[in-house]
Amino acid sequence: MKKFIKKVAVMTSGGDSPGMNAAIRSVIRAAAFYNLDSVGIYRGYQGLIEGDIEHMNARSAHHLVQKGGTALKTARSKEFMTVEGRKKAYDNLVKYDIDAMVVIGGDGSFTGAMVFSNEFDFPIIGIPGTIDNDIFGTDFTVGYDTALNTAIEVIDKIRDTASSHNRLFFVEVMGRDAGHIALNAGIGAGAEEILIPEEDMGIDRLLITLEKSRRSGKTSSLVIVAEGDKTGDNVFHLAKYVEDNLPEYDVRVSVLGHMQRGGAPSCFDRVLASRMGVHAVELLIDGKSNVMVGLQNGKMTTTPLENAIKENNPIDKEILRVSDIMSV
Ligand code: ATP
Repeated sequence: MKKFIKKVAVMTSGGDSPGMNAAIRSVIRAAAFYNLDSVGIYRGYQGLIEGDIEHMNARSAHHLVQKGGTALKTARSKEFMTVEGRKKAYDNLVKYDIDAMVVIGGDGSFTGAMVFSNEFDFPIIGIPGTIDNDIFGTDFTVGYDTALNTAIEVIDKIRDTASSHNRLFFVEVMGRDAGHIALNAGIGAGAEEILIPEEDMGIDRLLITLEKSRRSGKTSSLVIVAEGDKTGDNVFHLAKYVEDNLPEYDVRVSVLGHMQRGGAPSCFDRVLASRMGVHAVELLIDGKSNVMVGLQNGKMTTTPLENAIKENNPIDKEILRVSDIMSV
């Protein structure tokens, strides 16, 4: 049965990503536009359990669109994984007269949202916020474009030093289960090889390519490695293996790490987050729940949270093909 919504809550949960603030702002502003009250829940599900909740209005979102991180903070909550924890969370929603919630986060946060929504028949909409772009049901997650641009900016700088010293650099970028950042940053930065979890090229083929590249006259090389790549045990092991087998290479490793999560969001992420926030509020007003908003082929779409969690966002084969051709 369609529920009449008067007050909407918004939270960020799990790992942070640039553009989360723009999404928070959009939910608050869209709520104000439709004459709904809104509250912000601090520190994700843990803050909801502890009642860390603040009333918002259109002006609370002032100057938020351009800021990195999340003004509502984010957290992981073990307590929310328990029935008792979720009951406390529900009691706080009742206490604050909250009728619906928008959760900005990754697939763990959506799993929590789904469990909670089914348990208490509470309307929730998800906004995909993660730099890894690994969520099914959207071509882009909020934060991915910014992370990609941060990665490429740094890789360009590493290229300068690599070519000055005739070195081979292994650069590890984020992506535990997905190679979207590695593949796209690798193509954009002109890397010689790109190693991603979705494709195991094998360590020996890597040696062959690097050797071929050296013989063709290249004096410096970049190999972009996704965090979750399985070619070696880790990027340091991979570098050592190459150094041991191709001693003519002077090998270095650079792990980009958390810098990829920070910084002001790109224009693309700000617009994406703004569109998703508006769509999420409109879906709640329309009586929808348990879905994630996404951007597919340029249009706002919805995907059941259940599917968003279960399936993966596959690597585009066309981009893989381009990558292969580029590394000829
Ligand atoms: P990232 O992609 O950055 O890791 P995420 O949203 O996947 O973000 P998680 O730490 O996996 O981050 O999940 C965030 C929170 O969601 C957890 O700390 C927990 O509170 C809640 N959660 C995850 N799985 C469940 C579950 N099965 N039941 C209840 N709550 C859950």
